[in-house]
Amino acid sequence: MAPETIPVPLYYHEDYVRHEQNPGHPESPDRVREILRYIRDNDLPVDLKAPVEITEEDLQLVHSAFHIGRIRDFGVGYMDPDTFHTDRTFGFSLRAAGGVVGAVRQCITERRPTFAIPRPPGHHAGYDYNMGFCYLNNVALSARMALKEFEDVERIAIVDIDAHHGNGTNDIFNNDPSVLYISTHEWGIFPGTGHYTDVGSGRGEGKTVNLPFNGGSGDGTFQAAFENIVMPILMQYRPDLLLISFGGDAHLMDYLTTLSLSTPGYLELVRSLIDFGTKEVGGRVCMELEGGYHVYALAESFAGAIAHASGTEPKDPLRFTNRMDERGDRKRIDEIMDTAASYWKL
Ligand SMILES: [Zn+2]
Repeated sequence: MAPETIPVPLYYHEDYVRHEQNPGHPESPDRVREILRYIRDNDLPVDLKAPVEITEEDLQLVHSAFHIGRIRDFGVGYMDPDTFHTDRTFGFSLRAAGGVVGAVRQCITERRPTFAIPRPPGHHAGYDYNMGFCYLNNVALSARMALKEFEDVERIAIVDIDAHHGNGTNDIFNNDPSVLYISTHEWGIFPGTGHYTDVGSGRGEGKTVNLPFNGGSGDGTFQAAFENIVMPILMQYRPDLLLISFGGDAHLMDYLTTLSLSTPGYLELVRSLIDFGTKEVGGRVCMELEGGYHVYALAESFAGAIAHASGTEPKDPLRFTNRMDERGDRKRIDEIMDTAASYWKL
């Protein structure tokens, strides 16, 4: 008989599939629907949890009053060419933030991995601005609320594996040593930030680690980066809480970027992070959704992490297993290591 599995907490709300950009927009409700379908069809054990309530006062932990008012009152229209706003956007954004905050609180109190699949995503929203399908920064708010609410949470690590640099999260914690921000992303695409020489500033200098990869980079480059840079830095920082900003758009099937992670490559990354969270951070690890636009590739990667956390395997064989970039971009890894070695033993 198979050992009993304990359902994994997954924060979700129907608003996550009600929120819509304009028709044909890649950041569509189908992204979340497909993750849920994959979970259901593969009998992955999840416990669906409702988001917690978020107030405007909470939002001031990461956003200016001006920005909060703008997201609340913008009305109907484009905030930027990629990001549409309606009179429901503010409510949906609060719901998204509430899912991540709820998941983070639960992983802290129960010391086990939790997950959230919010829409809209958040990592391009900064203190005073928003862009790129994002309005409020879900993961940044969760981190600040965790620091405020839990005495034994003093050091947080956020690992952002979305293919785009999480400029909003990077900026919010730029000079904050209590939050280590590590981002892997494609260099030269939207939003254009995240060079490896951006290491944070002031008291936060060294607590921002940017890993900008060249187009085409895939399993080999990510694996070398995790082995030589990401995991050693996490070991040295010894966070009290690990947050994973998961974007599925570094996948070889994703059409918004040219990074080329296979699904097994993705699963190796998230397994190593979840295992680190389980063994080294006492189970206080939460994985939350950012981007990822090929819905099946997103679903098998995100849900594969849920399967790992629950000790199960999806029934469906993985579809996208082509390993590309096996040798890795050693030159870029060395450049990033040289810079990060000023702050970390690498
Ligand atoms: Zn992205």
